Amino acid sequence: MSQAEDTLPGTSSVAHAGMLPPRLDELSPQNLYDKCLALAGNLWWSWHPEVTNLFRELDPIRWRQLDHNPIALLAEFTPERLEARAAELVLYSRINQAYRRMKEYLAAENTWSTVHAGVLGSKPVVYFSAEFGIHESVPIYSGGLGVLAGDHVKSASGLGIPLIAVGLFYTQGYFRQHLDIDGYQHEEYQPTRVDLLPIEPARGTDGESIMVQVDTREGPLFAKVWKLSVGRCSLYLLDSNVEENSPEDRPLTSRLYGGDTRTRIRQEIILGIGGVKAIRAMGIVPGVYHLNEGHSAFATLEAVRGRMDRDGYPFDEAMRRVARQTVFTTHTPVPAGHDRFDNALMEEHLGPMRDALGLSHDDLMALGRVEPHNHKEPFCMTVLGLKLSRRANAVSALHGHVSRRMWVNLWPGREEEEVPIGHITNGVHVPSWLSWQMLQLYDRLFPANWFRQMGGPEVWQKIHECDPGELWETHYALKNLLLQFVRRRLARQCRRRGECDDAVEQARNVLDPNILTIGFARRFATYKRADLMLSDLDRLHDLISDPDRPIQIIYSGKAHPADEPGKALIRKIANLRHDARFAGRLVFVEDYDINVARHLVQGVDVWLNNPRRPLEASGTSGQKVVLNGGLNCSILDGWWAEAFDGRNGFAIGRGETHFDDEITDSRDGEALFKTLTEEVIPLFYERDADGLPRRWIKMMMNSIASLAWRFSAHRMVMDYARAGYVPAAGGVSSDMASR
Ligand SMILES: *Cc1c(COP(=O)(O)O)cnc(C)c1O
Repeated sequence: MSQAEDTLPGTSSVAHAGMLPPRLDELSPQNLYDKCLALAGNLWWSWHPEVTNLFRELDPIRWRQLDHNPIALLAEFTPERLEARAAELVLYSRINQAYRRMKEYLAAENTWSTVHAGVLGSKPVVYFSAEFGIHESVPIYSGGLGVLAGDHVKSASGLGIPLIAVGLFYTQGYFRQHLDIDGYQHEEYQPTRVDLLPIEPARGTDGESIMVQVDTREGPLFAKVWKLSVGRCSLYLLDSNVEENSPEDRPLTSRLYGGDTRTRIRQEIILGIGGVKAIRAMGIVPGVYHLNEGHSAFATLEAVRGRMDRDGYPFDEAMRRVARQTVFTTHTPVPAGHDRFDNALMEEHLGPMRDALGLSHDDLMALGRVEPHNHKEPFCMTVLGLKLSRRANAVSALHGHVSRRMWVNLWPGREEEEVPIGHITNGVHVPSWLSWQMLQLYDRLFPANWFRQMGGPEVWQKIHECDPGELWETHYALKNLLLQFVRRRLARQCRRRGECDDAVEQARNVLDPNILTIGFARRFATYKRADLMLSDLDRLHDLISDPDRPIQIIYSGKAHPADEPGKALIRKIANLRHDARFAGRLVFVEDYDINVARHLVQGVDVWLNNPRRPLEASGTSGQKVVLNGGLNCSILDGWWAEAFDGRNGFAIGRGETHFDDEITDSRDGEALFKTLTEEVIPLFYERDADGLPRRWIKMMMNSIASLAWRFSAHRMVMDYARAGYVPAAGGVSSDMASR
């Protein structure tokens, strides 16, 4: 990122020529310290390697120990010590430059959005999500949905789209995972230190901090509102930990997806209803509401209430208008995965809302039912989202089909293909997931302003002109970094369990950079079938111990605390380390998070993905691998079903599913071994006279050229803007399913 990224020509340093760079000798210790604090105060730093490198160099060991949290790092420095360290490392000009680049970025006016989504200028998008994965130091995410939301906000910032994000502040975040000696998962919750986060109280139009109130039949719930800066976008987080709440209600938002359905509906009224109230208290008038999954769908009801209040519309008209402004994204391909609440929970928590809307209990329940008058049917958040939005989408082409089939009864008389749920396939934020080493390579190869065009195919075609040896060397260096990381973590895991020095020493020597390295890391939900490779241990052993063409596997991932089958899977895999046949070539890295994910996706040769089709709505981890030169080996599900073209990675099976899961699993297990033995392994070990796997490298290039842009969050957010946001805000419509 050597340019003023994401901005159009004319907005970089030239336009700011009037702003004189501060003279170096003007930097007092305090001034230097303040600049570093300002950098740490906007999560913009997290996707700029030249800034993360700065922080790391200040104290590499503490940087790692502090979860890459620059505020925590700076708290350990006095301005004087920081200055001494900066002088020692000659960091002045780099700090100045980073600071200036951030200022330029925040001030740039001529962005993609100015040209293509101008209508949003005065009508911002308010984007709701139950979790946001922005960086490992801000633990308010649990998995793919959160990371997707974080990437969405970062790309919206890059494209200059006026987007305001709303979520919940989890004071204990998601848990840290430790495995005991028996491989069983234990969860550790750590209180989040607010003073060590780039967070401040949000202020209302009166300049005071905001407290929102959400009424229930049993009394009000309160939440305060925090603000985080993510580049040009703001993220507001609601927090129930306030004195106004009863002691039982204070920890409502402390844990992500913790507690029972009652906790769940209470979190969701805070997110949805409280979120709209918070936005209103800040004087923001939304042009568009974007609901990322059903958790936040109550927001639509508060928005309707607002229109009735403010504009005097009757309920139906207010609802029509809010629906026109609302974009709903569904992520869940199984009926059981959608939030549902019964009559009693709904009456307790939405009773005051329905009074305000002038609805009977049945009228309200009907908004969340497929059959409006079926009194036995609970209230489903996805149904509310679909009914209260004019534009709805799934997150891959295949997931679009699945969703239209699942919800066809919501539109009586319509055929499946006429169900108005379109799709926008997920993508990843390139600067966040791209390694520094590959960035250097792209910077040398691609046109100077390639970052402005990363959401389109053109620039990426240049990868075909790369010297194969150079691409391979770069990948090999990244793979070595990954192995170093894994060994360090494994040694730490052994020490924590109190294992003997021999075991620690062994952990320091696992894995071999010359062996084909397969990565598998994600949440341990059972449909993802983390143990598919373990379905035939003898065959797996043959592959791992092959004298000429061996493989090695790195696993990582957390199971939901209440998911015993998921925990059993982890145990099964982790305990293979006690089996001499697999020792040193099959490892489990604990505490999967954005940091572990980043190392893995940047260093593996092959990323394995074998969900039970069609249960992976999209999946995004494989997209992160593409950017760094790794190859995907995957079931034809989610994004891979539309991405695989026969030359850009490997397919497992041909996309068949049997109605009996056991049969599907055994066929897919077969297909997995077949793909590995007949395609992946031979191709990897086929070397020319220089020791290069020419055809493998060609496949890396095909993968980068055909996939990097299509599955980037920039492409995704541009699609949302054109097909969702602009028409929802009253601009000219585009091609997303609307009704
Ligand atoms: C990208 C990512 C995910 C999503 O992975 P999938 O393979 O798409 O399920 C989950 N967790 C973390 C930490 C990630 O970075």
